[in-house]
Amino acid sequence: MRSAASSPNTRSAFGARSISSSPPGAEADNAAGGDNHILHFNYLPELKWYLFVEQNESVALAGIRRTLYINLAISLAVTLVVVLLIHLVLARYQGRIEEMASTDKLTGLLNRHAFAVLIAQVFSEYRREPRSIAVLLADIDRFKEINDRHGHPAGDAVLAAVARALQRRLRASDLAVRWGGEEFLLLLKGCELDEARRIAEDLRRAVALHPFAMGRQEIPVTMSLGVAQYDGNESVEHLVGRADAALYAAKHGGRNRVEVAPPSRPD
Ligand code: GH3
Ligand code: MG
Ligand code: MG
Repeated sequence: MRSAASSPNTRSAFGARSISSSPPGAEADNAAGGDNHILHFNYLPELKWYLFVEQNESVALAGIRRTLYINLAISLAVTLVVVLLIHLVLARYQGRIEEMASTDKLTGLLNRHAFAVLIAQVFSEYRREPRSIAVLLADIDRFKEINDRHGHPAGDAVLAAVARALQRRLRASDLAVRWGGEEFLLLLKGCELDEARRIAEDLRRAVALHPFAMGRQEIPVTMSLGVAQYDGNESVEHLVGRADAALYAAKHGGRNRVEVAPPSRPD
């Protein structure tokens, strides 16, 4: 038998021995020294020889294996990127849905539903660390007339402008809520009653001194405010009810003014 081996892993051999059990050109696996080898042989009738080509299986499959691993790595990387993108898109949509559910579309202020959730948090913070809380209830004066005289879209624009004016003057820790049609509730944390009254006066003056510009026309806008301080025990309904009573007094007193609720009576 002559050897025509070209590498340690691939060996060729020519031989005159006849192999009767396998058809010419067949491949066979055999184990040698613990390694699997692929054996390919072919009968050359002109020479009456068999040509054997033997290759170490792990070397033959190494290329395929490498390609497989590269494909797996690429698939894994693509899957991770897709999962990350889906996660980012979902987080963004969830944020937008939460924002839409908690804010008033016209003014961008919190809605009453969001306030109900947040006030529970504010009260529990108060129980841990009692710092004065004040509530301001503001209502635009004679708003129906603005609607009637200038139209509903102008009324909407006035509402949005008043909301901006209120929000500009509040601190980040304060809450500004669209309480109803042309009513706004402001919750000021860490704010004593005197300070709350002063802030309410500033807000009232800021709105009254800046008529809303609609084209060349100016729409005078005023608002009345009721102020109440949290007594540390009452329900949110009771607290807002006292601010509302003060607001009612401000309307009754001529509008464009601030009234402060007397301290709540102990039960
Ligand atoms: P007062 O000084 O006593 O508060 O009088 P008012 O006219 O402001 O109060 P009233 O309750 O009589 O009218 C409120 C008006 O607000 C009636 C309603 O049509 C209008 N309104 C409520 N929500 C909206 C809104 O989203 N957009 C507009 N343009 N108008 C609204
Ligand atoms: Mg009003
Ligand atoms: Mg009203």
